[in-house]
Amino acid sequence: MKNPAKKSCAATKRDGMGCQAAALPGSQFCFFHDPAKAIARRKAQSAGGRENRMRTLPADAPDVKVQDGADVVRLLSDTINQVRRGEIDPRVANTVGYLSNIVLAATGQHELESRLAELESLLKPRRRSM
Ligand SMILES: [Zn+2]
Repeated sequence: MKNPAKKSCAATKRDGMGCQAAALPGSQFCFFHDPAKAIARRKAQSAGGRENRMRTLPADAPDVKVQDGADVVRLLSDTINQVRRGEIDPRVANTVGYLSNIVLAATGQHELESRLAELESLLKPRRRSM
């Protein structure tokens, strides 16, 4: 049942239907249609925009060194906690995870190459003596 004390908004929506929202006290329009509320609406929208911005660490947050598996584990555990505290956006954390994988693949490749070079250097003198 409609509350007779609360009249609904006099505006017509884009689809041609009357707006069903309750009119503001002392106005024939609701918050979204009252011309007098245009500035307040814009403020609310930009506040919403700020709210939706991706949360990141502050620009002056120190760089992290990510050169080996231990660095990656440290970075990922920090990142996990930053997401849990709402300090960074999960999308930022996803990127950190993705890049960490690339670092791990690159450092793994680098380690394999140095071990192979070490093995080759150990084999060389033996070949000469044969
Ligand atoms: Zn309305």
